[in-house]
Amino acid sequence: MPLGLYISVPFCRTKCSYCNFASGVFSQKVFARYVDRVCEEMRQAPGTAAVMGGHFEPAIDSIYLGGGTPTILPGEDLQRLFAAIRQQFSIAPDAEISVECAPGSLDERMLGTLARCGVNRVSLGVQSMVDGEAAAVGRQHKRATVLEDIAHLRAAGIHNINLDLIAGLPHQTPASWTISLDEVIASGVPHASVYMLEVDEDSRLGRELMAGGIRYHAHFVPNEDAIADFYVEACRRLNVAGIAQYEISNFARPGAVSRHNLKYWTRQPYLGFGVDAHSMLEASADAYTLLRAHPMRSRPGDTPGDNGGNRPCDVSQANVEAVRFSTSDSLEEFLAGAALKKMPVSWAEAREEAFFLGLRLNRGVDLRTIALRFGLPAELEDTVAHLCADGLLERAGSNIRLTDNGRLLSNEVFQRFLACDTAARM
Ligand code: SF4
Repeated sequence: MPLGLYISVPFCRTKCSYCNFASGVFSQKVFARYVDRVCEEMRQAPGTAAVMGGHFEPAIDSIYLGGGTPTILPGEDLQRLFAAIRQQFSIAPDAEISVECAPGSLDERMLGTLARCGVNRVSLGVQSMVDGEAAAVGRQHKRATVLEDIAHLRAAGIHNINLDLIAGLPHQTPASWTISLDEVIASGVPHASVYMLEVDEDSRLGRELMAGGIRYHAHFVPNEDAIADFYVEACRRLNVAGIAQYEISNFARPGAVSRHNLKYWTRQPYLGFGVDAHSMLEASADAYTLLRAHPMRSRPGDTPGDNGGNRPCDVSQANVEAVRFSTSDSLEEFLAGAALKKMPVSWAEAREEAFFLGLRLNRGVDLRTIALRFGLPAELEDTVAHLCADGLLERAGSNIRLTDNGRLLSNEVFQRFLACDTAARM
């Protein structure tokens, strides 16, 4: 099965107050070194996969450059990344090649670079089409910038465009949210993503909200109920406009579903490179042998005894369905060649993943397919019946999927699946 490739570029011009990604503002001096390191990681990919116990496949049919702001890199560095990809992997002729861009970063030169690299999809981190809201969280663009970028992308032949929006930004009101949604619809882009503001320790705004402070306009953040209403309204408006919801946060016109993102939710294999990049590969046929042979190593050349924070390798061949591994979320550690964290995925864990990733999709999951691959605990029927009775799931034959309410309370649904699965294993 062809892989998806993710490359993280963790550099930004400014740090948005709500951002909880492993990204930041760094000196341009580090850019070339970073690209060197990512290219080196790609060259090592077959060996890394082997040591991780994963099945390496040089064929890829999606590439995603995210972060961060990949277009902050000089054109030459972006071209070096793509040259390394082409050297190491075999790219399908119809591959989806996406790059995340901050609005306002697409000058003529950059558009030319993207075209030369074969980029055919761009995701713009808009967040709000209301200038005051974007400015309040540290975004440097205006609505007009976004519309200009869209026009320039189309002129350059890139029509597959995604716009990201966040529900719950400071100062957002039902009226201003409607403006953002209507602008996205009117722009005619084929894809939109809508995220609800995440409040956690990892962003400045999140920390301020938890502390009850007023910095970063935290006291102007809408309450949870209002944010939920914004999300529901987004689903309604986008669906009516023909930008159909296909995943909790993602909406597409016909034919514009993101191939790359679909890999995450359907557990197709992918490799990630760069800071805080995650990979998942099918377990290779001899995963057990490899894990036993290298129980304390993360990749070729690592110091024996350094297991990168792994769980103990107590897996048996029959119990490794896939392997997940990730790079450090610290730029310094990544540049210094820090060990990968690896996590073998047992068959029971793979079944849990199949549920909580697959249920994110509006089409849901097919119980029969999951049963054939993983088996199903008897308790699951009860859990499904209760979730249906609670209006969080709906069932048609062997297919189950989240209801509108279930999508709003998806974490609760996933917890109940996990609890059922864990109980069945005890
Ligand atoms: S939201 Fe995007 S542009 Fe803003 S700091 Fe985070 S990664 Fe950078």
